[in-house]
Amino acid sequence: KERLLEVKDLKTYFPVEGGIFKKTTNYVKAVDGVSFDVFKGETLGLVGESGCGKSTTGRTIMRLIEATAGKVIFDGKDIFSLSKKEMLKTRREMQMIFQDPFSSLNPRKMVKEIIGAAFEIHMPRMTKKEREQEVARLLEIVGLNPDYTTRYPHEFSGGQRQRIGIARSLALNPKLIIADEPVSALDVSIQSQVLNLLNKLQKDFSLTYIFIAHDLSVVRHLSDRVGVMYLGKLVELADGDKLYAQPLHPYTKALLSAIPIPEVGVKRERIILKGDVPSPLNPPNGCRFHTRCPYCKSICKEKEPLFKEVSPNHYVSCHLIDN
Ligand code: SF4
Ligand code: MG
Repeated sequence: KERLLEVKDLKTYFPVEGGIFKKTTNYVKAVDGVSFDVFKGETLGLVGESGCGKSTTGRTIMRLIEATAGKVIFDGKDIFSLSKKEMLKTRREMQMIFQDPFSSLNPRKMVKEIIGAAFEIHMPRMTKKEREQEVARLLEIVGLNPDYTTRYPHEFSGGQRQRIGIARSLALNPKLIIADEPVSALDVSIQSQVLNLLNKLQKDFSLTYIFIAHDLSVVRHLSDRVGVMYLGKLVELADGDKLYAQPLHPYTKALLSAIPIPEVGVKRERIILKGDVPSPLNPPNGCRFHTRCPYCKSICKEKEPLFKEVSPNHYVSCHLIDN
């Protein structure tokens, strides 16, 4: 398998002004040392509760947010060392689909302008007519009427708007698409249609996806591998089949036990987590999950478990599995 993306010890901290008397700066450690690879043609699901850093991870990879530390190698290129000009070129090859199709499309622009903007920036020699033809073709690809190029976002339903967002992401023939909760804002009845579309497009255009979701059931059928994040860290990463059948990390087990439909023949213990996710401004010492973990031992409060490969392609960070 060929790597398209390597994320190495990525950290994204956001400064927060300190107390009234001291000018200290605290940091929200939104992403705090995350490493993973993404292989060509696969879908990597990234799952966790809100605030776990999954969206920030996606945005940092895209350089929509500056990283604090770490490396991202995309198609052999060290993304953080690229000049603005080189990054603009690379940006064509990595695109993002956003969660909210209502706020991610400019309400004052026609569909042909929304989707065509990418051509204006990256293919300035294209004529207006050629742009419009391209936009119509893209609309057709995502299952919309190609005659809708002069319509405005408010003339579409939520599902249709997300299709416009998808068409926009496809405009420049990307290699990687980071989809940040692309169906979370949609009606359940529409969700599977959009997921099926994403699945089809992946095959038709040999796309690689990072699919971000807060719920393991959403990424179940789309993801080849799944990573679970908690408080800025990856806690488990494995092939989808393995993760759903034999989760190792207590947090993954808890998330899975909350999904109503279990795997056939797999008995899951129901794990109910106590409390809320602690603040990323002041994450717990040791294992960050220890304040909510039903299996917490004394070592968990002191020592941070390493993210280790415990069986081929199955990574987990937990003291229970370390030994
Ligand atoms: Fe629970 Fe300890 Fe494992 Fe953390 S390291 S998940 S607290 S058992
Ligand atoms: Mg998010």
